Amino acid sequence: MYKTIRTLRIGLALICMGVPTVALIVGYSAIFSRMQSLVSLIAGSTACLVFWLAVSLVYGRLYCSTVCPLGTAMDGVSLLGRLVERRSRDYRYRQPSTKVRITFFTIAIVLILCGGAVLPTLLDPFTAYARTVEALIARPVHLLGIGADIEAVCFSLTSTALGAAYALFVVVFAWRHGRRLCNTACPAGSLLGLASRRAIFHFDINTDKCINCGECERVCKSGCIDLCSHTIDTTRCVVCFDCTAICPNDAITYRSGRHRLSMPMLQTTAGSRNAEADCSADLQKKITEKE
Ligand code: SF4
Ligand code: SF4
Ligand code: SF4
Repeated sequence: MYKTIRTLRIGLALICMGVPTVALIVGYSAIFSRMQSLVSLIAGSTACLVFWLAVSLVYGRLYCSTVCPLGTAMDGVSLLGRLVERRSRDYRYRQPSTKVRITFFTIAIVLILCGGAVLPTLLDPFTAYARTVEALIARPVHLLGIGADIEAVCFSLTSTALGAAYALFVVVFAWRHGRRLCNTACPAGSLLGLASRRAIFHFDINTDKCINCGECERVCKSGCIDLCSHTIDTTRCVVCFDCTAICPNDAITYRSGRHRLSMPMLQTTAGSRNAEADCSADLQKKITEKE
């Protein structure tokens, strides 16, 4: 079932990326600002923001797995990176970069409160995606169509170079680190992550079924699956269903509530740092040996 959900999710994400991208190329850019939560906030359109916050409170960061075109583009790049490099070990669990997240989020909020709309959008990947498409595709296509003068072409070349630099940065980052930008620099992601912290529906690992094969951690682009504590950081999870689709033992479910262990004594105790460090070392050794 989860494989079907994942396929539907990917199809929806491709539509959500393709439609506004084509709309932008043909000159209808307003569609972007209507979809983006941070831009909605800047523009004073709180209905969109409240809607996506409410969705995140119930289902987690669905917005980031389906609606945001930059997220979908990053998934495409990271998939390509894995295929080209034929990595046996794609991703690992990473500690959350909470300070970096708070810093970028605070900068965006301060800039919004100061009344500026241009600077916060520079921190907003959704708008940056729109700008990049505009600079790399829409404007050159338009200029070619009308036979523009040399001044317009020079201006276009400058913006195209800036767009290319941004695209290169995102591509290099996504190639190596999957969705790390989503969980560090994106203010919209931080806001939705905060709302998803206690999301009603979330991914849960059934430790009675988990065989510690490491497959879920290997494919998690957000690096948010901690197999030592068998927990998933809902603030970073982008609800992509990759882990559920790959788990060989159906140990990961998307559900409300937590799975209750049939043998609670085996659960990792909170605060046991040494035990967790040992677990991490043992687990990585076991997975490496398997590879
Ligand atoms: S975190 Fe930001 S860039 Fe990433 S998918 Fe969500 S909105 Fe898009
Ligand atoms: S893929 Fe499934 S069985 Fe393997 S470690 Fe993850 S939850 Fe456990
Ligand atoms: S925990 Fe699973 S659903 Fe969440 S980001 Fe990682 S692979 Fe995707």
